[in-house]
Amino acid sequence: MRGLYIHVPFCSRKCDYCDFTSYADRVKDIDAYLEALRVEAALYAELHGTFDTVYIGGGTPTLLSAHQLKQLVSVTETLTGDSLLKEFTMEANPESVTAEKADILISSGVNRISIGLQSSRPELLKKIGRTVSPEKFAQAWSVFRNAGFRNMNADLMTGLPGQTLDDFRESVKFLSDFKPEHLSLYPLEVHEDTPLGKSGAEENPDGAADMYDEACRILPAAGLERYEISSFAKKGYESRHNLHYWLQEEYLGLGPAAASYINGERRTTTSSLDLWMKELSNGRFPSCTSRETLKGREKDAEKLILGLRLAGGIEIPSNIFIEFKKEFGSETAREFLDIQGCRIKLKPDRMYLANRIFTELI
Ligand code: SF4
Repeated sequence: MRGLYIHVPFCSRKCDYCDFTSYADRVKDIDAYLEALRVEAALYAELHGTFDTVYIGGGTPTLLSAHQLKQLVSVTETLTGDSLLKEFTMEANPESVTAEKADILISSGVNRISIGLQSSRPELLKKIGRTVSPEKFAQAWSVFRNAGFRNMNADLMTGLPGQTLDDFRESVKFLSDFKPEHLSLYPLEVHEDTPLGKSGAEENPDGAADMYDEACRILPAAGLERYEISSFAKKGYESRHNLHYWLQEEYLGLGPAAASYINGERRTTTSSLDLWMKELSNGRFPSCTSRETLKGREKDAEKLILGLRLAGGIEIPSNIFIEFKKEFGSETAREFLDIQGCRIKLKPDRMYLANRIFTELI
């Protein structure tokens, strides 16, 4: 089975750190976007019924009106076989959530919601240009809970400008009171071409690492266990969709800038909304900014790197074991890896620094 990802490239305004493909001034194009999305889904009709997860991200999917959200969900139905769908996630931004939209989503089969909190400290949110207040987050969370959602994720960020360990602890405490089933943790990345990058702000990797260690220490008390480098969940609430990525399984991405892994090929669709819509209006597959077919050792290295992100690691066949015998015997591998039979995993206290061993495996 595969995962289906749909990218919704619209936001009400751009956050200062954001380098995702999202447009803050194209709301008028949402209907045309939905039409193009329907055409794109139809181009993959032969994959109908082969998906067991859907993830609608962005951007801000909940920026769409109630009517547009119904249309968005109906596009997924042209590809999914209802009975096989195990998880259907939609990202939401607190400012655009209403009870009507939440009711539409749950009655359309969406069964998981992901909301960005990032921090519970308004002054830190202001520094990264996020307009969403912790109060709005709380309201949106209640709206979804009241609609019946029982599988909800929240995102938190580490290493924000001026963020202290106490600030971070307070955010975790704030979030824990909402009893999320899943939490994703991201260090702030400062990209040159964003307002934050242009302002001269810098990343804080040491501070982010301390906050990460603190998260690993205190989140289990809230029932949230780390199961992947950046992901914590209650038992049974691990993201099935993201597991497709980490287990090197196939997924189809629709929408501008969406990534796919189909028939051994990784490709990323053009990030230009105009080009994407134009090509689809002519019934053509949209252009790609990258296409790559991984084979042999390269593919095996990727499988290792993705699988090692999981706390439980992965089982690898003996041919991959033999292929990486030299790397597995290195000093870095002894420091980072726990190898038992054909199961290989990162040592728990080395997960955050995993890039060091990943570099060695490439
Ligand atoms: S809400 Fe998300 S996608 Fe939209 S601008 Fe902010 S970070 Fe980017």
